[in-house]
Amino acid sequence: MSIALDQVLRELGKSAGPDHHGWYTALCPFHDDKRRPNLRLREGGFRCMTCGEKGNLKKLAARLGTKREEGKHMALRIVGM
Ligand SMILES: [Zn+2]
Repeated sequence: MSIALDQVLRELGKSAGPDHHGWYTALCPFHDDKRRPNLRLREGGFRCMTCGEKGNLKKLAARLGTKREEGKHMALRIVGM
C-alpha cells in the first residue's frame, strides 16, 4: 500500500476493503454521503458511485484537507461564541 492511499484512508475514517480487485469503499466527501459508502478508491484513483466525482488520490486528499479546515473553522466559531 502506498503512503498516499494509506493517508487518504485514514482521513476518510471508516472504510472497508480492499476487495479482490483492490478497491476500498468509504463515505464520499464530495457529496452529503451519510447512509451507505459510495466512494470507491484504490492506488490509481477514486470514483463515487452516486455523485460521479472521480479523479486521482491527490484530488481526494485535497478535498479531505479542505473539509478538515472547514471543520476547524466551524469549531473555532463555536468556541468564540
Ligand atoms: Zn459522491
